[in-house]
Amino acid sequence: MKMRQNQTKSSGDIPLTEFPGIGARRAEIFAKNGADGTFGLLRCFPRAYENRGNVIPLASGVPGETAAFELTVSSKPDCSFSEKGKRILRFRAFDCSGSCTVVFFNQDYLKSVFSAGAVFRFWGKLKNGRYGAELVSPQFEPVRYGTELMPLVPVYPLCSGLTQKLVRDAELYALTAAAPEGAPQLLPEKVRLGRGLVSNAEAYRMIHRPNDFAEVENAKQYFIYEELFTFAVGLTVAKTMRRSGAAPAFCDVSFDEFTSSLGFGLTGAQKRAIADIASDMSSEIPMARLVAGDVGCGKTLVAAAAAYICMKNGRTCALMAPTGILANQHYAGLAPLFEKFGFRTALLTGALTSAKKRELRERIAAGEFNMVIGTHALITPDVKLPSPGLVITDEQHRFGAAQRARLGGSDGGERPHVLVMSATPIPRTLAMILYGDLDVSLIDEMPPGRKKVDTFVVNESYRARLDSFILKNVSEGGQVYIVCPAVEQPDDAEEDLSESLKDASGYASALGERLPGVRIGLVHGRMKENEKDSVMNMFASGELDVLVSTTVIEVGVNVQNASLMIVENAERFGLSQLHQLRGRVGRGDRKSYCVLVSDSKGDAAVKRLSVMKNESDGYKIAEFDLEQRGPGDFIKAPDGQLRQHGMLRTNMMHLCGDMKTLEQAFEDAEEAVYKDRVLGAEGYENLSEKIEEMLGTGVIV
Ligand code: ADP
Ligand code: MG
Repeated sequence: MKMRQNQTKSSGDIPLTEFPGIGARRAEIFAKNGADGTFGLLRCFPRAYENRGNVIPLASGVPGETAAFELTVSSKPDCSFSEKGKRILRFRAFDCSGSCTVVFFNQDYLKSVFSAGAVFRFWGKLKNGRYGAELVSPQFEPVRYGTELMPLVPVYPLCSGLTQKLVRDAELYALTAAAPEGAPQLLPEKVRLGRGLVSNAEAYRMIHRPNDFAEVENAKQYFIYEELFTFAVGLTVAKTMRRSGAAPAFCDVSFDEFTSSLGFGLTGAQKRAIADIASDMSSEIPMARLVAGDVGCGKTLVAAAAAYICMKNGRTCALMAPTGILANQHYAGLAPLFEKFGFRTALLTGALTSAKKRELRERIAAGEFNMVIGTHALITPDVKLPSPGLVITDEQHRFGAAQRARLGGSDGGERPHVLVMSATPIPRTLAMILYGDLDVSLIDEMPPGRKKVDTFVVNESYRARLDSFILKNVSEGGQVYIVCPAVEQPDDAEEDLSESLKDASGYASALGERLPGVRIGLVHGRMKENEKDSVMNMFASGELDVLVSTTVIEVGVNVQNASLMIVENAERFGLSQLHQLRGRVGRGDRKSYCVLVSDSKGDAAVKRLSVMKNESDGYKIAEFDLEQRGPGDFIKAPDGQLRQHGMLRTNMMHLCGDMKTLEQAFEDAEEAVYKDRVLGAEGYENLSEKIEEMLGTGVIV
């Protein structure tokens, strides 16, 4: 296991220069490794353990497998040269079951260490050499009467200048002389005892000098819980922060007028979500709410109703989308709805010329608009929305918690209500991590009349049939999405990889040759935003029949006429991502299809794709995905980088490891913060300091 954290300084933290054998220079190297004092050193955890206590007889040694042997040296070491000029040190050693030759290279100085009759514990691999069993370059420790060797020897992550022995000795000194009892404890005793965890000092001893693997496990549980708990306290505090300050409390939060103007009835889940929002916005506690629901469940209208409430109370509203395409679409859908009530909507995206942007900003600042829809460009400080009442962000998981904090935060005074829409069906426990600072309205019901999208999994041998299926859809007036995993072949791609991976631009031109007369467009992430938008708009308005793209279309685009979604190299996508993509079709009246193309024969891939074929509930798919592939797909940023929690510098991959424990940590955190009020209290200085480190100083008062 590998975990290191910045530790808060505390009294009793002895500098490493006071350790035997560590001078200023070495202490500096240790500091580079994260150990700038005793407590920092104790937080440098082993990455593995060698089970050297499990000594086996030579005769039971399996060649090629690392094992521990306790052997007596039986011959004086002999030095010679190998054919390649390496110096070889050789001697014989035995135990009650047999004997072997022990070999070291270029280490003549060991000659004096291995005197005949001396006993050592060796750790290494046996191999069958020319003259029988050989133990080559093993680790070794002298066996002396009265001193016990460590049964499990820790292996530390090292930076250059350090050796395992140096770190092991330093850790031992830290554990004994420097007394880890004083090491800063983050877990309140009540929590520790409640969860049956070992003490702080025991945990340090068990991680660095365990007697057995059960102790390692106990120590790990302690440190993981400590990290989860601290994280959960951070989010709990963040949640309180999000609600601090005052937002405008709206007097009139009725919305019937708006919803009855739609021409269709809302689903029960939509009504409940809007009621949650209306109730939030009637209070001056700032709303911080997530509207989550499967693709196509109708989140946009929920957001629109929230905007309506805001505007009719005389405040302006902002809606931010992650892409220009989506901003356009929201504008096209919502502006006419609001127009009916005399509310004016502006569209502000990166596609505008800077002169146009400037002009629009001025008009926005002058109060010409009730609603502004746009992309990230909106959050820049030079967009001054007069008396903002509500900020809505769509598909928020692309923004992250840090931006969220920035959004709500105005300069000390009034802050707007915040509403977040997410179309990623995420398992509840993961939602706690990604959106732990928000309240949640879940839309768990689809608008009536939604038809199931028939899904097929096919391989390359279906290519000709697939082409004619595209033609059939197009000739019937439908439209087709084709999604490829890569934009274009990377120059340095491995041969076998580039052969099988479909790239969007190559694919589009090949398809054009195979299907003349079909109007094909291409969209990928490396295009400029306005180029993307214009192709996308052509597809939306029916000027294109087929849109070949990378996953840029994943998010929320709504083309009612689209009837076929083809995903190439489908095995390369996460299930939730495939579900998102499938959600792009079947949005209108047309019978719609999704074809997943994959030549992968691996068991896991086949099983995953068959889940897509048989399951249409996004949450069930998400649960399956989480179980099979871990949380990576949910928390990856669009660029594929593992997402760090925006606000809390914690590796989420690690946090997601164990959902059950995570839930317990949240329970304990709430109790500690709200009931026991530990933050800022005496005896909890380390925890309080840590939280301020996460969220900024001054958050605890
Ligand atoms: P998403 O939740 O994926 O953002 P949208 O809000 O884009 O879904 O809605 C998908 C489609 O369903 C839109 O065309 C929208 O007009 C329509 N829709 C939303 N709510 C209802 C409803 N209650 N009844 C019928 N159609 C609805
Ligand atoms: Mg949407």
